Amino acid sequence: MSSTLTRYKAEFRCINESCASVYDLNEVVYECKKCGSLLEVSHDLDALREKSGQEWKDLFDSRFRSVKFPNTSGIWNKREWVLPHAENSEIVSSGEGLSHLFSSDRFAKDLELGGLWIKQCGISHTGSFKDLGMTVLLTQVRHMLNRGVPIRAVACASSGDTSAALASYAAKAGIPAIIFLPAGKVSQAQLIQPVSNGAKVIALETDFDGCMKIVKEVTKEAGIYLANSMNSLRIEGQKTIAPEILQQLEWEVPDWIIIPGGNLGNVSALGAGFEMAEKLGLIRKRPRIVLAQAENANPLYLSYLKNFHEFAAMDAKPTLASAIQIGNPVSVQKAIKTLKSFNGIVEQASEEELSDAAARADLYGLYNDPHTGVALAVLYKLLAKGTIQKGEKVVVVSTAHGLKFTEFKLKFHEGKISGTDPKLANQIRSCRPETGPVMDEIAKFLQGKS
Ligand SMILES: *Cc1c(COP(=O)(O)O)cnc(C)c1O
Ligand SMILES: [Zn+2]
Repeated sequence: MSSTLTRYKAEFRCINESCASVYDLNEVVYECKKCGSLLEVSHDLDALREKSGQEWKDLFDSRFRSVKFPNTSGIWNKREWVLPHAENSEIVSSGEGLSHLFSSDRFAKDLELGGLWIKQCGISHTGSFKDLGMTVLLTQVRHMLNRGVPIRAVACASSGDTSAALASYAAKAGIPAIIFLPAGKVSQAQLIQPVSNGAKVIALETDFDGCMKIVKEVTKEAGIYLANSMNSLRIEGQKTIAPEILQQLEWEVPDWIIIPGGNLGNVSALGAGFEMAEKLGLIRKRPRIVLAQAENANPLYLSYLKNFHEFAAMDAKPTLASAIQIGNPVSVQKAIKTLKSFNGIVEQASEEELSDAAARADLYGLYNDPHTGVALAVLYKLLAKGTIQKGEKVVVVSTAHGLKFTEFKLKFHEGKISGTDPKLANQIRSCRPETGPVMDEIAKFLQGKS
């Protein structure tokens, strides 16, 4: 297997174009040693071009939802684009990717769109898109361990979902995981996931940005490998969201993709995926990318208003979209580059807007987490402004499963999120267990009165 794949090569490359230093993927390195910029995984596109765009499409289509390992994963069925040197025996996979592209004719029609799809990245092993990157990171760690690189543990700072993914994939591979969480700032479901998977969970009296600072220090220690998305191996897995969406749309490019962002790794990954699909001839045009931020954690939005001429980190205020409560995003430079090359937009959503948007879309059969709520609220806003126009085709990236955010859903329907639309709150009726009163309730319901 590996012998057929080794003609595809990948390496780390500094994103600062005037530096462009390269490093071996087996080296423990997260930032450029010369200039301190982030790295990206760079693929030998000439080797990949030996297949035409159509040949790649056919190959990927032939592997989609296969029962044969490792094509049982939406990452490893595109392995040549991700981590070509990984051996089958090194792959740490829990069937990530291959998530449903939800569509509802009724929803699209109500918004007068030519098509609306919600990419359900949260329907995944640990309930968020973080699985897509973590499978690649743990696979590369295994590859390095096989070559004698002394890694004793993997570590991350997390706003919730990264730690769940890291703990699960590390447990599967039998590698110790260390997790730093901001005390009291993640949902109960998110907190209990790494605990169950046996990770060392350390709660710090700070916010995500404070946890990030600590994990950067800790991973300077040889032997503790950094699993945050500043490690660009994660991006390689997340990148497959783009070709997978295209594949599910039968390789037709939508007009818009809306994605919520915090640390801004995922929007960069999305862009990288489309860019690769374009460079290798699978598509001829690009979608426009919209990055959606919570108003309470909106440093990129503020920078966008100034045409990205400056960027200022901020102290993020609490938001229901807790996974994107980030004021000092690690991947900001990558994200700005992506947005510029995808004619991108940044828009924000308030707490009320994100809550209402999630609930409104739930009425079409979805079950939205608050981050998807941010993206949906931004969709409504851009439609109202006329930026997104009638008849256009839109994909919204849903980043986590709503079941991780039961407190949020409960609070909304109990009417406890101030400023939200009371008409959207659905309350449970209590009723005597007798046919008469029950029929009265049903009659009221069917007349639209309650
Ligand atoms: C991590 C996360 C995000 C933000 O992704 P970034 O790469 O940090 O921008 C959004 N939504 C959910 C549910 C997440 O877990
Ligand atoms: Zn550099």
